[in-house]
Formats: sequence, C-alpha cells, structure tokens
Amino acid sequence: MAAESINKKGMLVAGGWVLPSPSRKSLEVKNPYSGEVVGVLPVATAADVEEAVSAAERALPVLGKLPAHRRSAILEETAKRIEALGEELARTITLESGKPIKDARGEVGRAVQTFRFAAGEALRIHGETVPMDAHKAGEGRFGFWMRVPVGIVGAITPFNFPLNLVAHKVAPAIAAGCPVVLKPASQTPLTAVRLGEILLESGLPEVALNIVFGGGGTVGEWIVGHPKIAKISFTGSPPVGRRILERAGLKRVTMELGSSSAVVLDEDADLEKALPRCVLGGFAQAGQSCVSVQRIFAHERIYARVCESLVRAVERLRVGDPLRDDTDVGPMIAEAEAARAQAWIEEAVGQGAEKRLGGTREGAVLAPTVLVGANNGMKVMKHEIFAPVVAIAPFKTFDEALGLVNDSIYGLQAGVFTRDVGKAFRAIRELNVGGIMINDVPTYRVDHQPYGGVKESGLGREGPRFAVEEMTTIKMVVFNL
Ligand code: NAP
Repeated sequence: MAAESINKKGMLVAGGWVLPSPSRKSLEVKNPYSGEVVGVLPVATAADVEEAVSAAERALPVLGKLPAHRRSAILEETAKRIEALGEELARTITLESGKPIKDARGEVGRAVQTFRFAAGEALRIHGETVPMDAHKAGEGRFGFWMRVPVGIVGAITPFNFPLNLVAHKVAPAIAAGCPVVLKPASQTPLTAVRLGEILLESGLPEVALNIVFGGGGTVGEWIVGHPKIAKISFTGSPPVGRRILERAGLKRVTMELGSSSAVVLDEDADLEKALPRCVLGGFAQAGQSCVSVQRIFAHERIYARVCESLVRAVERLRVGDPLRDDTDVGPMIAEAEAARAQAWIEEAVGQGAEKRLGGTREGAVLAPTVLVGANNGMKVMKHEIFAPVVAIAPFKTFDEALGLVNDSIYGLQAGVFTRDVGKAFRAIRELNVGGIMINDVPTYRVDHQPYGGVKESGLGREGPRFAVEEMTTIKMVVFNL
C-alpha cells in the first residue's frame, strides 16, 4: 500500500502558503512506525523568517483593533472546527508522531478544551484601579493599570503533542492579542499546518499566525534571536531550554521542560486505584510525555506486591501499530531514541537493577519495560528517559519517600497515594514541584490548570489563564486631576 500523504499545504508566511519547490530545501516527515514519508514541507530560509516576523509586526495593530469578543469568537469557532475534524486530526497526529490513535483522539479532545478555555480568557483580560491617595504624593491623582499584549510571540514546540502543545501557545496568544511566529518540531509539523488552516477558516486575520519549518539550530535560533519578537514560549528539553535562555536576552520567556516524574505509594495506598493509573501514566504514548510516570517509590511493606501487580498489568498492554484502535503502546518517535532508552535500561541492569519485563526492541518500538530495585543514581531515574520504562524502588518512611522525590534536578509534577490527610499535606508542603496530585499520578492534567515546573523543569506557567498573563504586560495610567 502506498504511503498516506497528509500534507496539502506548506509554510504559512504573511497569509500565504509557501509550498515545497525544487529551489528550496525540504523536510520529509516520516511515520515513526512504518518509516514511510507522510509529508514534505519547505524549510524556511532566514529571509522567510524575516518575512514572517514582518507579517506578525503588521498584525499587531490589526489584532489590537480586534475587540475581545471577536478574538473569543475566533477561538470558539476554532474549537468547534477541531471537534468536527477530530478523526482527521487524530490520524494526522498518529501518522507523524506514532502516538496510538486512541491517545491522539484524546489529544484532539484536549485541544478543543484548550481553545474553549482560551476563548473564555479573551473576555477576562482586565486591570485594577490603584488607590493613589494611599500616599501623599498620590493626592489628586487617579490611577489604574491594565494589561496589554506583550508583542509578537515566538512559539517553539516539541514532537510529543503536535496539536495540544501548539494550542497551548497559539490560543492564549490570540486571546491576548499577540501575533505568533510558530516553529513546530521538525518530526511533527503536519498537524500544525492543519491547525493553521483551521484558524484562518475560523476568521483569524491572515498575518496573525505565521508557521515556519526547519531545524532548531537554524530556524529556531533565528526566531529566538529576532529583536522584534517580544516573547519566546518554548516547550521541549532542558538543554535546548538553556540554549534558548542564553540567546533570548531581555525577551519574556516561558519554558516548559522535562522531568523524571515520581509517584509515592504509601503503605496504606489504595492499590486498586493506584496501579492502573501508574500503568497509564507510565506507558501511554510510549512514555513520551513530560509528566510520564518514570519513578515509583513504594513502601517496603507493599513493595513486592506493587512490583508483581505492575508487571502483570504491563504484560497485558497491546504493543504495535499505532493506527489500531486497541494499541496501547506504539513506537517511540525514532529508532535512535528507542536504542538510547534501551542502552539506559542495560546500564541500570549493569548497576544492579532487575529487568522484570521488557527491554527488547524492534525498530522504534521498545517493549514496555519494568525495572525493580532501581535507585536515583541510575540514569533511568536520574534523567528523563522519555520512553515506556518505569523504575521502582522501595522506601521505609514517608519522609524518606519525599526526599527521594525531591532528589532530582527536575520538578514538574508528582503523585502521592495515601489515605492519611496529614501525610498528604506534608507532601504538599515539602515536595518541590510545580503540581502535586494526591491519590493520582503526576501525568494528570486538565488544560486550564496552571501547569509548569521548578528547577530544570522550567519557568512560568501554561494553561490559558496563566499563559495570557505571561503574554500580556502591565501598563500603568495616572491622571493628574
Ligand atoms: P527538543 O529537542 O528540545 O525540541 C523542542 C523544539 O525546540 C523543537 O521544535 C526543536 O526543533 C526546537 N529546537 C531545538 N534546538 C533549538 C535551538 N537551539 N533553538 C531553538 N529551538 C530549538 O524537545 P523534543 O524532543 O521535541 O520534546 C521532548 C522534550 O519536551 C522532553 O524533554 C519533554 O519533557 C519536553 N516537554 C515538556 C512539556 C512541558 O509542558 N513541560 C511538554 C511536552 C514535552 P527541531 O525539532 O527542529 O529539532
């Protein structure tokens, strides 16, 4: 059967679609499961990025004149169209990312919510009056502050949520009145193209969204270093985040980075509830989520039972073709990534961990893997593995467990299963992370919550309300009466 090509358009620059041509370099998008080319896109030159930024600059006054209710209506219309095109979008996500189709459908549903919440936020951007006469120098003055768009947003996104993580940047930017220059991940740009079409069909002024493709080290860096871009909104790995911070200068920056997310299963944990959540959190989309369950700390009294039950549950996962409705675990994004994760597994085994399940690989498909007797010194716990691999270790006391969770360079989200409300509050107080899930896994997220991390996991927060705050700036006004 011929490869399914899903690319109909190209780059979106200044309201026009730039198609691949022999005079330009092109980017082949491959299905990570079959290796087939599913789309070809043009690679942006420095001149294309310049044109995209100029178009975004022209969009500033256009968006500035667009009333909040219109911006909200465009976002609501986009949500409706994404919902209506759900299956097509899910298929595009699966073909370019290898994500199982059921997870891709879930991602489409979440993107609908992200646009709907952003549509609501567009209507709520406001300021406050300031009691000027609280100080003698303020007598006879009337003051207030308001929020204004920060300017052009440069959005750089990763491969693992090709639709919803683009939505988390583009939707709040439109709500805030900011034009966008978007560079999606080179492995998964096709869904972003389709989203661009949908936004234009939903009434977004043409120049307000520009989408360019190409390598992070070229196109990404041109965006980051561009003096007319006011804010960089980045989701991706910590090393790239650091590089962007070095180059961004005085731009506003939001960094949604990686993690080695942990779950604590205390001795009284409801395992009936906890274990299925750990399986989902650890293995959905082949563990390639920033809040995948990677480290499980189980109380020593339940440790053996946790290891055994988890292995039994993971054995039942269906692995293979991501387009099949019943597939739980598909390929990783690339064979090289699967080989890297496999090498980390073998290194952990060499350091004393026991491989209870998995560790084998066929191309980009790494078998779901459970390691027991692991520790925080091993790469499989210390660094983000971003693979269908879960490592389990025992603990004696709850304080020790909290210490083990905090013993990480990352701090995105953590999960704690306990029936003791006192311990739950201790975890809330002591865990140094951006989000804590009591009686759930760190993988839990709704799209309107504040989402982001501390330490190497990032700076700033997403979730439409919080992203709008980061994409607007405060302007103070004083009347001398
Ligand atoms: P990545 O390698 O850091 O790439 C992310 C994006 O940055 C891509 O568009 C990439 O372009 C671009 N890029 C690379 N080098 C760049 C540079 N020097 N300047 C500007 N842009 C550059 O990440 P990934 O492998 O796609 O995604 C996985 C990572 O994302 C994991 O660490 C995961 O935890 C993190 N993530 C975090 C969150 C969160 O919300 N906290 C959510 C999802 C994923 P190319 O594709 O062309 O290389």
